[in-house]
Amino acid sequence: MHMLSHAEASEKFIANQERTDWHDDTLWFVRSKRDKASKLLPEWEALREQASQIKEHMLSNLPQYLLEFEANAQANGVQVHWAKDAHEHNEIVYSIIQKHGDKALVKSKSMLTEECHLNAYLEQKGIDVVDTDLGERIVQFRKEVPSHIVLPAIHLKKEDVGETFHQHLGTPKGNKDPQFLTEAARIHLREKFLGAKVAITGVNFAVAETGEFVVCTNEGNADMGAHLSDVHIACMGIEKIIPKRQDLGVFLRLLARSATGQLITTYSSHFAKPRAGQEMHIVLVDNGRSRQLARDEFRNSLKCIRCAACFNTCPVYRRSGGHSYHQPVAGPIGSILAPNFDKKANVDLPFASTLCGSCSNVCPVKINIHEQLWFWRQDLMKEGLAPAGKVLGMKFMAWMMSSPKVFKLAGGIGRKVMTWFPFLVNNGMNPWYKQREMPEPPKQSFQEWYKSNRS
Ligand code: SF4
Repeated sequence: MHMLSHAEASEKFIANQERTDWHDDTLWFVRSKRDKASKLLPEWEALREQASQIKEHMLSNLPQYLLEFEANAQANGVQVHWAKDAHEHNEIVYSIIQKHGDKALVKSKSMLTEECHLNAYLEQKGIDVVDTDLGERIVQFRKEVPSHIVLPAIHLKKEDVGETFHQHLGTPKGNKDPQFLTEAARIHLREKFLGAKVAITGVNFAVAETGEFVVCTNEGNADMGAHLSDVHIACMGIEKIIPKRQDLGVFLRLLARSATGQLITTYSSHFAKPRAGQEMHIVLVDNGRSRQLARDEFRNSLKCIRCAACFNTCPVYRRSGGHSYHQPVAGPIGSILAPNFDKKANVDLPFASTLCGSCSNVCPVKINIHEQLWFWRQDLMKEGLAPAGKVLGMKFMAWMMSSPKVFKLAGGIGRKVMTWFPFLVNNGMNPWYKQREMPEPPKQSFQEWYKSNRS
């Protein structure tokens, strides 16, 4: 099946003008909340710097901190597993479930399990996976993937949710009252929580010093699942390690403010050891992270704490929607992570950016996101993976712009063509003008204007 490129999928998204405007406004509202919350802390910039440095230190000493975490977690009675890739991760999770002979489990939001396509893998084995985060449950009912890492159903309106719940939960047709729908989801999920013996959660931070891990949610669904189950499986990417418990004070203050503009996430739950009679497992997953760590220009991307501030501020994400990125992690950071998995399949993503740098400005761990997108573009171009038209166009532009004479000549020809034969530029073949009006071409170049006005 042909996978739509970012541009093709965006075209579908923006065909619905009303939804595009609403999506854009909603995410901008979240970004504005982030601005207000961050300005309440005079030490905000110092916190960002400290977070970035802690992650820098962690990345430079990753093997040591992973081993320290493993030893401390094991001493706490937690079973630690290592997975080199997504397949191994899925196999490990399945083997634990199989040992307990269960056919259903509850799962709280975990982008890692999305990355590993765990749901599809387990469903194939006959396991019923219930996503318990409200937004995730909505997209799961619709057989979609999350369009945003913090707000998985942000592409949907309450009317869409009402219809989905009508089909899957039997709520009255046409009821789109958020309070009513949330209550319906609560009753439905409560039943699933009470019946599940196995619960899977993600991990936001894992503390090497203590062997504990922290899961942040606003709905408390991770806690509910973990507390009611006999077996708790926590799945984490190896970059989630932080050295010390005191570092949490830095990250927890940054995470909620950057993500939703809240002062703190509603539940920041610490899991250190299984309660009596419970089994607790942690699966540490590499899945390409070591490879990214070895790429000098991109290792920084492993500092990401998945707050999605870069999504909310990105003018391209806000107007193209998360599904256009065809990856579990969309937005600017997703466009850096995806080519690490598969350059060819994700060659379009680093180009889905204006390189305005707004992402780097809001990133709480100071990742140079827009620069890395630019580095990927160069890398993909050098490897000849970009579409032939783009490569040719770039070569022509480089040749033209490196010679003042040719540049001047081309500018003159361009202005004349745009004036006399505008249809050669502004036509259905030129995607640039699909949503834009052609500017009136200037009568002279800036140099000509300068010569005649500033002699
Ligand atoms: S790259 Fe930065 S802004 Fe984007 S999700 Fe990660 S931590 Fe947040």
